[in-house]
Amino acid sequence: MLQFENTKVAFADKSNSYLKKAKFIFRMVASPRLVKVGSSLLRFAILIRFPVKWMVKPTIFSHFCGGETISECESSIGNLSNSNIKSILDYSAEGLQNEKSFDKTTEIILSIIKKASVDVRISQAVFKPTGIARFKLLEKVNNNQSLTLNEADEFQRVQIRFAKICDYAAKHNVALMIDAEESWIQNTIDRLVENEMMKHNKTRPLIYNTVQLYRKDRLKYMTEFSKKAFDSGYFAAFKLVRGAYLEKENDRAEDLNYDTPIHTSKRDTDTDFDKAIKFCIDNIDRMAVCIGTHNEDSVRYAVSYMELKNIPKDNKNVYFAQLYGMSDNISYNLAAEGYNVSKYVPYGPVKLVLPYLIRRAEENTSVAGQTSRELELIQKEIMRRRAKS
Ligand SMILES: Cc1cc2nc3c(=O)[nH]c(=O)nc-3n(C[C@H](O)[C@H](O)[C@H](O)COP(=O)(O)OP(=O)(O)OC[C@H]3O[C@@H](n4cnc5c(N)ncnc54)[C@H](O)[C@@H]3O)c2cc1C
Repeated sequence: MLQFENTKVAFADKSNSYLKKAKFIFRMVASPRLVKVGSSLLRFAILIRFPVKWMVKPTIFSHFCGGETISECESSIGNLSNSNIKSILDYSAEGLQNEKSFDKTTEIILSIIKKASVDVRISQAVFKPTGIARFKLLEKVNNNQSLTLNEADEFQRVQIRFAKICDYAAKHNVALMIDAEESWIQNTIDRLVENEMMKHNKTRPLIYNTVQLYRKDRLKYMTEFSKKAFDSGYFAAFKLVRGAYLEKENDRAEDLNYDTPIHTSKRDTDTDFDKAIKFCIDNIDRMAVCIGTHNEDSVRYAVSYMELKNIPKDNKNVYFAQLYGMSDNISYNLAAEGYNVSKYVPYGPVKLVLPYLIRRAEENTSVAGQTSRELELIQKEIMRRRAKS
């Protein structure tokens, strides 16, 4: 059975000082009070443009991000590649919601695709729709609200950006994943991604949508959409995740008095996640899947189901993915066993990546067991090295 406890493999390329720093960071994020105060201070610093780079870059940023530019990510990409792990460069600048920044982000995504097309250490490209479109506009389209003439033009520019990025990925034969976001803009994102899938997935699974299995309706969406794709003669492709906006979704549903779209228990989310894996593996000759999780049970389930169905470990349509700085024990041990593994390597200017970092800190605090698991493994590796020396 696949073991995730092998810390010698998991931390093979990590120095002693890296481990010490990682231990310090996970200890910090283990404290909900510290994370709450720290996140509020960082949000305030963003608001008043207080410089925090000197403090953030050598600590939490360097742990969870590859660098501020693609070239700064070079050593992370190289280290991962030495352990047979591919990188997915993820431009993680958030918060800028204007046309200039949307165009700039589009150009950056194109440069990531270009890099992926010539660098075998990079497996896929990715982008977040709100990096190239205004949230409120996506929401208005989602609600079928009528748009002003300006807004209609603005939405047309969003469609053009989407098409430009996907056409470029197709031209360079680089698989492209589109992140999932809040449920009240996700229908708009789905329609945009579905169009691109129909256009570009005829001969291979190239464009991936993302499904968040913490939503009650997404397993059904994924299976029905896939069947439609199979019948129409193109490949379906999905990144499976549990979902990152749990509290925000539940709070909004409560505030606006509608039924939360989120499962009422973690167990239901886990069950749907496994069912989604099963569906994808069962249809793997007609679709591709990227299993994006830090959950060891989900990964074990996927691996055992692949074995049961005699799917080779390195089947090109099955990828496992984790976030940089998290669950190295899963990524490195899976890769050592011959599975396709990628890490999202977030990058971007420190001040624009702060919202991403705050989410990571909050997630690590709220995800029961995740931080203690990371700490336990880091501690184990420190002890193993000490005993050896
Ligand atoms: C490669 C990669 C790409 C990602 N891309 C996206 C993306 O595009 N969009 C996005 O939203 N997220 C994305 N995420 C984040 C992801 O959705 C999860 O937040 C994160 O991975 C934690 O889930 P898990 O499966 O790793 O671990 P677990 O610890 O098993 O699960 C934690 C998750 O379970 C769910 N959950 C927790 N408690 C409950 C509850 N009471 N009821 C119902 N559900 C509950 C929540 O989704 C929570 O985040 C990505 C993650 C990875 C690794």
